[in-house]
Amino acid sequence: MSIQIYNTLSKRKEEFKPLEPGKVKMYVCGPTVYNLIHIGNARPMIVFDTVRRYMEYKGYEVNYVSNFTDVDDKIIKKANEEGVEPSVISERYIAECKKDMEGMNIKPATKNPKATEEIGGMLDMIQTLIDKGHAYPAADGTVYFRTRSFKDYGKLSHKNLDDLQGGNRSLLVSGEDQKEDPLDFVLWKPKKEGEPYWDSCWCQGRPGWHIECSVMSKRYLGEEIDIHAGGEDLIFPHHENEIAQSEAANDKPFARYWMHNAFLNIDNRKMSKSLGNFFTVREISEKYDLQVLRFFMLNAHYRSPLNFSADLMESSKNALERITEAAARLRDRQAAATVQEATEDEKKLMQEEAAFVTKFEESMDDDFNTADALAAVFELVKFANTNVQEGSSKEFAGHTLEVMTKLCDVLGLTLEKKEEILDEEIENLIAERQAARKAKDFARADEIRGLLLDKGIELKDTREGVKWKRI
Ligand code: AMP
Ligand code: ZN
Repeated sequence: MSIQIYNTLSKRKEEFKPLEPGKVKMYVCGPTVYNLIHIGNARPMIVFDTVRRYMEYKGYEVNYVSNFTDVDDKIIKKANEEGVEPSVISERYIAECKKDMEGMNIKPATKNPKATEEIGGMLDMIQTLIDKGHAYPAADGTVYFRTRSFKDYGKLSHKNLDDLQGGNRSLLVSGEDQKEDPLDFVLWKPKKEGEPYWDSCWCQGRPGWHIECSVMSKRYLGEEIDIHAGGEDLIFPHHENEIAQSEAANDKPFARYWMHNAFLNIDNRKMSKSLGNFFTVREISEKYDLQVLRFFMLNAHYRSPLNFSADLMESSKNALERITEAAARLRDRQAAATVQEATEDEKKLMQEEAAFVTKFEESMDDDFNTADALAAVFELVKFANTNVQEGSSKEFAGHTLEVMTKLCDVLGLTLEKKEEILDEEIENLIAERQAARKAKDFARADEIRGLLLDKGIELKDTREGVKWKRI
């Protein structure tokens, strides 16, 4: 079966056909890095990582690019408050964001470009747009995109220009009175006191937000890409403007499939920094393994709004435990089995397991319905709990575990139960490592370091002795 994707552009599900056979070029708009990410920001990360994983499961080679916006008013404001360079703020929060992503088992992107490292490409694209009559510099050096020059403007958000014109007096922000038309948007803007800036032939300044994604997507994926994704708040104006810039500059369709996740809400309002109604991923990680957060997100369809609640997190934790416990039981049965090969009856049962895989794939093929895919995993859990018994063969237990692991891996859920390690056990292992070093048994000393690392404990040899921390 082929994958069906709901395309915001056509407002319907379409069969996924890659530009190049066997390959997927995918761009996901990433966060602005001025603070720890909240769990609303985590939703597109988890959702589109799962899309990527499923594409890979189906045999595609996925080139996955996701940017960090590292030049922005909020970053500059925070840098000024702390009396540091904006790059200190952005680098700090990029590092923190990567830690959170690792905790949520998000696969590293093929490339995470940063806006500040792509200014040259932005200047080139802006110049091309000016040369083609799609953009113009104003007297103060601001460069605007001439929105009405792009005939397809509005095709993604399904808005028409006259409605926008009527309803959007607010598009005329103060200081932008040199625009030819209120619908025009900024590509490049003059520096202000205390802001980072770059030289250009229009003025010393910095880029607008939209141009960065058009440029980074082109540089790392090419002029035409398969999938462009982000939260639904990006449909307008961000993605609409990206389409206008890219298609006007390149004279080619930009992205074939536009995917947007619905909001993560709290008390039925969008979770956001500006409303102050958010939980950071870091806060959640103090209470839960982030696998629970991942499960919570995937237990809903990505296009449905999802309301965050403590109760739902608790039930996600319990549900996830049902899967990890089933897997642990299978592992035990596999280890303890005395019979190697599957019996005839077990072989029949193993064939029945294929039905769960089919159901899982049908759900994922249907616009990545992860909630139904999880239901298929639970059916397999029930099947395993009923059929894999003490005395089952190694082959049967092993096969069932393999199927469960394979499906969970697509969802980014790891079945290994992280063992809690107590401070006392750590201290004992460190003492043993010291003794081994003294006895010049470096192999054992290294083994202990590795053992601790597997349990999430990092050792540092300092002059004051060995220090450790949880990572
Ligand atoms: P930002 O840093 O605000 O540009 O957001 C980064 C990504 O997170 C974008 O794809 C947003 O659409 C997405 N996002 C932000 N808040 C939410 C939310 N409450 N629910 C779902 N996605 C969100
Ligand atoms: Zn973007």
